[in-house]
Amino acid sequence: MAEGPGGTNADWTARARARIPGGVDSPVRSFASVGGTPYTVVRGEGPYVWDADGRRLVDLVQSYGAVLLGHAHPVVTAAVTAAAALGTTFGAPTPGEVLLAEAICDRVAGCDQVRLVSSGTEAAMSAVRVARGFTGRDRIVKFEGCYHGHSDSLLAGGGSGVATLGIPDSAGVPASAVADTLVVPYNEVPELDERVAAVIVEPVAANMGLVPPAPGFLAGLRQACDRVGALLVFDEVITGFRLGPGGASAETGVTPDLWCFGKVIGGGLPVGAFGGRRAVLEVLAPEGPVYQAGTLSGNPLATAAGLAVLDAVGPADYTALSATAARFGAGLEEALAGAGLAVQVPVVGPLVGIFFAGEPVTGYGTARASAATGHYARFFTALLAQGVALAPGPYEVMFPGLAHHPDVLDQVVAAAAVAARAV
Ligand SMILES: *Cc1c(COP(=O)(O)O)cnc(C)c1O
Repeated sequence: MAEGPGGTNADWTARARARIPGGVDSPVRSFASVGGTPYTVVRGEGPYVWDADGRRLVDLVQSYGAVLLGHAHPVVTAAVTAAAALGTTFGAPTPGEVLLAEAICDRVAGCDQVRLVSSGTEAAMSAVRVARGFTGRDRIVKFEGCYHGHSDSLLAGGGSGVATLGIPDSAGVPASAVADTLVVPYNEVPELDERVAAVIVEPVAANMGLVPPAPGFLAGLRQACDRVGALLVFDEVITGFRLGPGGASAETGVTPDLWCFGKVIGGGLPVGAFGGRRAVLEVLAPEGPVYQAGTLSGNPLATAAGLAVLDAVGPADYTALSATAARFGAGLEEALAGAGLAVQVPVVGPLVGIFFAGEPVTGYGTARASAATGHYARFFTALLAQGVALAPGPYEVMFPGLAHHPDVLDQVVAAAAVAARAV
């Protein structure tokens, strides 16, 4: 049974809606796109979460990829507890931030320095500022369907099959904030010119469902950037330390100028980081003219949790996890296709996606067409009824982690076969 402060999912949802806009602190957590009452999590352990109704769910959300070892892993809990006992924040340098920065740079070839922040949003926002400061240029290029957090200049990019300049995706973002943001289709190398400061990309797109980079796409971006002196920014907030110890740059052999990290490197606490070559990072204050700061940046609890995770996983763990994910993906595809559904289950390393589509999805246009079938919501609801939690939206991916024993994933596949009939 769940041990919590009492109250059901419905109680907590009603109270949340009274005092928190939409009842959630991040819109993707609401059930707006799948319907029904959100479950309120009271605790987690390994691959499971328990909701306020006392139900145990197999959790494939894993905080949208922030959790790699499973919930409440003893290594993380111990690291956080020990750090908390020494004080939670100081506003002065601490060993923990140095150790985490070293751990990141040791694992990611070409990344000489990182600065720690408190979210992936801050990491991407700051990386763009560094690129603009370093190049003295304003324009940035991003790809449709890629997500780089919710900062103004990066909140453009859905909605159009053609390149658009300066159309914000959110009310409250002035057109002027995205006037220098060029949005182009994923998996097509754009023409660049010498006004471009940076090209920012998810090297494996995982915020429009899972869309792998086409062969040659990332290498083509590298060449296109080099030709005009623009910086290539890999947003590895999901892929970093999840695809493998060196992230997507190691897996693909393409080295960007700047990296953004988040999610896994915080071990479930709020951390982001951006990094790159020393010559580029030198533009940051106090050495250079680009300002960037944070009261809780490099927070001792967060760095302790992140370091505990990075230290706990080695190459063999990633290999095993990728094998588990491949088997899981194949099982899911078989279960759904066996029910006569047109389905694609892309797998990249440990990342598993699902599209209700007849053909492989290569970009945002086809990803949206898959979402528009409405199948995901029915699949989601039917799985949840059987005790399996996917993310409540069709553009998210599944995050099997090191706590998801193959037996647990076999149960998910069996539930998927039942859910397929509801779709
Ligand atoms: C989650 C995510 C972000 C934003 O990170 P937050 O910690 O939510 O601010 C940025 N980029 C990518 C690729 C992400 O998946």
